Amino acid sequence: MSASYDVAVLGAGIVGAACAFECARAGMTVAILERDTVASGATGAAMGHIVVMDDSPAQFALTTYSQSLWSTLAPELLASVEYHRPGTIWIAADEEEMAEVRRKFDAFTAKKIPCEILDSQALAEAEPNLAHLLIGGLLVESDAVLHPHRAAEHLVSEAGKLGAQLITGQPATSAMHGLVTLTNGDSVQAGTIINAAGSLSPSLTPGIPVKKRKGHLILTDRYPGYIHHQLVELGYLKSAHASTSDSVAFNIQPRLSGHLLIGSSRQYGAEHPEVDQPILDAMMDRATLYMPGLRSLTALRSWTGFRAATPDKLPLIGPTEDPTIYLATGHEGLGITTSLGTARLLADHLLRRPSAIPIDPYLPSRLTTTRTPALQEAP
Ligand SMILES: Cc1cc2nc3c(=O)[nH]c(=O)nc-3n(C[C@H](O)[C@H](O)[C@H](O)COP(=O)(O)OP(=O)(O)OC[C@H]3O[C@@H](n4cnc5c(N)ncnc54)[C@H](O)[C@@H]3O)c2cc1C
Repeated sequence: MSASYDVAVLGAGIVGAACAFECARAGMTVAILERDTVASGATGAAMGHIVVMDDSPAQFALTTYSQSLWSTLAPELLASVEYHRPGTIWIAADEEEMAEVRRKFDAFTAKKIPCEILDSQALAEAEPNLAHLLIGGLLVESDAVLHPHRAAEHLVSEAGKLGAQLITGQPATSAMHGLVTLTNGDSVQAGTIINAAGSLSPSLTPGIPVKKRKGHLILTDRYPGYIHHQLVELGYLKSAHASTSDSVAFNIQPRLSGHLLIGSSRQYGAEHPEVDQPILDAMMDRATLYMPGLRSLTALRSWTGFRAATPDKLPLIGPTEDPTIYLATGHEGLGITTSLGTARLLADHLLRRPSAIPIDPYLPSRLTTTRTPALQEAP
């Protein structure tokens, strides 16, 4: 069987779902080709923190832009997506981290992102269950939280209302020159193929610099009001930057349902999906340094997922040497946040519309030796 579309999206994680929605909304015919089920990859394993991060100007631009797109979309999201805006508190444990609080405050304030420096007393009042020896933090009010799996389902469903076809349970085995082949022998033709297969994207576009980076999370029983904000230690930035060793950092999220989600870990070279007990133990040890009462809460389950990491910690968004293949991958720990910005940038590029932020820092050509067609050559 063979069918033809303007766009074939490979992968129905949050990034593929957002790309399908954006392309369908722009009037293109769209097929979403998913090897398993919607959100069965990293998206289903993620925390759903919609967070502004400023490790680099390009990351700052994409996370800020994407967060504003989530905020615009929020009134249309189903209640089941559990979008809410508790804000983030970046927690400082020592003077070095307090200096980082002040640097972030200046950077965020310059971009008109509402935030506030908390001293130790204000931090304790905002979050009484935190350890008392912490010296302060930065409250970023605009950061949000959502249920990533349901957000992806919502976007796929909205794309479906606009005519997009979802084909699940069939891995794509190859994608090139406008043709996608599925394991059952069916094929799909498309003028544009968007590889949004997350950590598995190199299997469909060989040679792209994307590596698996494993993460663990723990879900607790319902404890409404136990925390009020997403709480992240500033040491998280060191953990996210470590490029060789395994690392853990304190990161806890209040779900609207009252559940708490405790993270997080980062591992390269661990390709098995099973939970690694020593990593889980290290995560809990770290978490209880910051919040000693966590040990007395009931954990319901833990799981793992694979982030798609690139060498420069920025996603790959845009054309490749094959003029029919576009990438929307490599979002590492920020793909829930940056999915909407990614999709909008890609749709703008395909339709030759002006973009709110430049796509250039995310173009795959920066990391690949293959020639990327000039922007004006886009179909
Ligand atoms: C523990 C953890 C916590 C995280 N927390 C956050 C957070 O709080 N905030 C945030 O912004 N990000 C977070 N992330 C990162 C985020 O989950 C990812 O960046 C994001 O989900 C990537 O989405 P994706 O659609 O690119 O990939 P995926 O969700 O992995 O989707 C790729 C899809 O492609 C499909 N696929 C693969 N191969 C094929 C094939 N051959 N044919 C067809 N389909 C295929 C897969 O089945 C999968 O459904 C977290 C990640 C982890 C692991």
